[in-house]
Amino acid sequence: MKKVLQDLSFAETENLILALGEKKFRAKQLTEGLLQGKPVSQISSLSKPLKERLLQEYEDEPVKIKETFFSSDGTEKYLFELADGHLIEGVLMKYKYGYTQCVSTQVGCRMGCKFCASTLNGLIRNLTAGEILSQILVVNALHKTDVKGEGSQARAVTNVVLMGSGEPLDNYDETLRFLKNITAADGFNMSARNISLSTCGIVPKMYKLADENVPLNLTVSLHATDDESRARTMPVAKAYKIADILKACDYYFQKTGRRYYFEYTLIAGENCDETHADALIALLKGKPCHVNLIRLNEVKERTLKALDDKAAYRFLGRLEKGGLSATLRRQIGVDIGGACGQLRASYLKENET
Ligand code: SAH
Repeated sequence: MKKVLQDLSFAETENLILALGEKKFRAKQLTEGLLQGKPVSQISSLSKPLKERLLQEYEDEPVKIKETFFSSDGTEKYLFELADGHLIEGVLMKYKYGYTQCVSTQVGCRMGCKFCASTLNGLIRNLTAGEILSQILVVNALHKTDVKGEGSQARAVTNVVLMGSGEPLDNYDETLRFLKNITAADGFNMSARNISLSTCGIVPKMYKLADENVPLNLTVSLHATDDESRARTMPVAKAYKIADILKACDYYFQKTGRRYYFEYTLIAGENCDETHADALIALLKGKPCHVNLIRLNEVKERTLKALDDKAAYRFLGRLEKGGLSATLRRQIGVDIGGACGQLRASYLKENET
């Protein structure tokens, strides 16, 4: 595979352009074109010889939309193809205040969570920072007519969640590079406050992230209230204890001043009766956090079952009564395979020879 231009910061792009013997302002033109989601070959402000020179070493289009699926509720789901042919997926959710895109950080995943489709075939490879960013650039380009603003200033995608396939903190360096580049004033210039990073709780990396000065929304996938039960659905629980995850969250709050979030997927018969609600209250009460309850998206390769709606609202009510700030996430895009990794998994299956 060739290298990825979207991996570079603006300063690095300038150095590259100067090293090629070009004038400095070409870096601006190149970056402007890339931020507009254009393949290098289609950036009309650059000369043909410069583009040819760049394309000897760099991918023209590191991430391409292979297929788009439209949900009746407006949600769009994309199957992306990488330059080496691997597939990843992403979702665009449309809200009144803007569009939130869910992006992947790895091809597959090695965390092995029992409810998740992304991990069915293990980890294939990490994405580079530019491959993570390019998912956003191509989708933003697709929707640029939905918003005001010219050129790279047309920002349809206003919020990003790292909740697609992969564990972002298991691909720490590239994820951080992506975060630096997307928030850079001379890059996509998205506020870190509009970015959420979801982790299954890789404690040492949570501390590291807290020290990086990127005040994003840190979200931890909890899904259980004690380590033993957590390990039944999340193998990572054998390595990191809930108590240590909570300490790392508090450190994150101390360093960034940002409250943190927990995701709690309701799995029938596993983690959502009254005793679990009470245990969750005991764990989290008084902490600067918010709990997002998620309905399980049943994955056909897995046997776990979703909780019915009435019981889900009862669970939510008990948490709220117990003093927790919590919401039950509305289910979106179910008709297009909303759960992580489902689309890729079904695509790989259909195309098995
Ligand atoms: N690896 C990261 C981010 C990816 S998953 C993490 O573990 O947080 C994003 C969220 O979706 C996580 O909370 C994950 O546990 C949850 N999830 C995965 N598969 C799901 C499913 N089938 N139904 C509901 N939530 C699911």
